[in-house]
Amino acid sequence: MSSVDQPRPVVCAGTPAHTGTLVRQRLAAQSDVLNADLERLVTTETPSTDPGSLGRGADVLARWVRQRWPGVEVEQVVGDATVAGSPEAATVVRAEIPGSLPGTVVLLGHHDTVFDTGTIEQRPFSIAEQTWEGRTRRVAHGPGVFDMKAGIVLGVHAIAALDAQGIPRPTVRLLINADEEVGSLGSRGVLVKQSEHALGALVLEPGGCTGTLKYARKGVGLWDVNATGIASHAGLDPERGASAIHALADLACHAVSLADPAVGTTVNVGTFSGGGRANVVAPAARLELDVRARTVREAERVEGGLLSWSPADPRVRVTFDGGWNRPPWQATDATHALIRVAEQAVAGWGLSLDLREVGGASDGNVLADAGITVLDGMGASGDGAHAAHEYAVLDDMPERAGLLAAVVAHWPCAG
Ligand SMILES: [Zn+2]
Repeated sequence: MSSVDQPRPVVCAGTPAHTGTLVRQRLAAQSDVLNADLERLVTTETPSTDPGSLGRGADVLARWVRQRWPGVEVEQVVGDATVAGSPEAATVVRAEIPGSLPGTVVLLGHHDTVFDTGTIEQRPFSIAEQTWEGRTRRVAHGPGVFDMKAGIVLGVHAIAALDAQGIPRPTVRLLINADEEVGSLGSRGVLVKQSEHALGALVLEPGGCTGTLKYARKGVGLWDVNATGIASHAGLDPERGASAIHALADLACHAVSLADPAVGTTVNVGTFSGGGRANVVAPAARLELDVRARTVREAERVEGGLLSWSPADPRVRVTFDGGWNRPPWQATDATHALIRVAEQAVAGWGLSLDLREVGGASDGNVLADAGITVLDGMGASGDGAHAAHEYAVLDDMPERAGLLAAVVAHWPCAG
């Protein structure tokens, strides 16, 4: 897609492309404000595992949203703290920004990151120029900048830009949780309840390359498998032992045989540990499985295959903990209706969408499983999620915001 200062000019008033153009142009002129807001969020470190930081991060977010819309209702809704490990990790920052069109659109994001407290000292927020494919762009670095603090910034500014220009839109409910990177176990009840009667949800996860949206995500199944056998001398009386390692080695092969890459089903034995000494039959072993599937049918097939397995030596006891952390998400007709709006927006700019199905799950999967219409990957462009080279493309922020604003304002059911 072209840079924001060169939008194709032929767009008709009242169309998604026209709405998106107005938002792009406004935000292109406010890049200093966007960058300052992004710096504020990135320098407020929020690792999923640090409750104190998550609490401070939620306060910063709430204050920032109130500054954008003075008088707007912003609250912190605590989910299931027992599961999340702390009230801070279970908390969802919720803001209700009233609109003049019927219905409510959810903007869904997370402010937790995978980076430990102190990463900001090694990798401070910075803005630099980066050149690839002959184009030089301004990018921002810093922990969590791409996944997904830039998405939160562009989402909030997209709605503010609609309002500043008097463009009608449905009510927007902003939901930002703090445990997404660790499975959203504490917050998912709040997310589903707050989205139940909405027109649908736009997820502020990174969009990858410029112009990318996500319309399907695989489900993720995680299992922690523990085996308990019987220790014995490997030379003197091996028959008295029951090897936990041998049992789980058999399970590992069985699990991998359940994969079917042709239909997108993958199985990964991510960790394998056990035993203590070479001359002892191993009394304990453990492995962790990561399974990805595109459809519920495939998810059920693999789960059934795993749980029906039993060790050849009946003296070994095996326990499976886990299950489908996030179920598969496939685009529905309602998602395709949203995609058509997005296509109209970018077509008016002389561009085309890059629609992707990806293996990584998000909270979009959780909402879609609850029957809510979802379009994902509405956040920033950039690269390197969860990695040290992570960056968000600042020059694309107005364009990404324009796309999001067009979908919100021209939501198919919103009249
Ligand atoms: Zn994310």
